[in-house]
Amino acid sequence: MKYPVVLHPDKLLKRKAEKVTAITEELVTMLDNMYETMVAHDGVGLAAPQIGQSLRVAVIQADEEDDILELINPELVAYEGETVDIEACLSIPGQYGLVPRYDRIVIRYFDREGVEYELEADDYFSRIIQHEMDHLDGGLFIDKATKLMTEEEMVQYMEELEND
Ligand SMILES: [Zn+2]
Repeated sequence: MKYPVVLHPDKLLKRKAEKVTAITEELVTMLDNMYETMVAHDGVGLAAPQIGQSLRVAVIQADEEDDILELINPELVAYEGETVDIEACLSIPGQYGLVPRYDRIVIRYFDREGVEYELEADDYFSRIIQHEMDHLDGGLFIDKATKLMTEEEMVQYMEELEND
C-alpha cells in the first residue's frame, strides 16, 4: 500500500520524531509500505515523518540494484569531511538545492529484526542517509542549502558541471 507523501510546509515535517520502542507487526508493515511509496515516487529515501508518522524510521535505496536499507532509531557516531552537492526531497517537489554534508559517516541503527548494526557510508550514499536522518529531527534540506534552485536551474547547473 502506498502512503500519501506529506508536503512542505506541513508542521509534521518540522517535528522531532519519537524513538521506536518496540518492533511490532504494524512497524514492519509500515516499512514495506514506505518502500513501496518511495519507489512509486522514484525516490532514493523516505523518512516516517514524510508519511505522517512521527517515528525515527527511514528507508533508503540509492540504486535499484542495492539492498534496501531500513533504519530504525539511527544515530550518527562519527563523521569527517564536507562536500556540497545537489539534493531534492519528495516532500518539496520541484525544489533543488546545493547542500553541504559530511563526506563520510558512521551510523548505528536497528533493522526490522531488532538487530543493531554499524554502517560506514561515504559520498552519495552518506548524503542520502544524512538527508533522511535530518527528517527525523524535523530538518529539511532547504534549511541547510547554500543555494536553492528550480528544476530548470538544476538542469543548467548539471550541464555546466558536465562541460567542465
Ligand atoms: Zn527529504
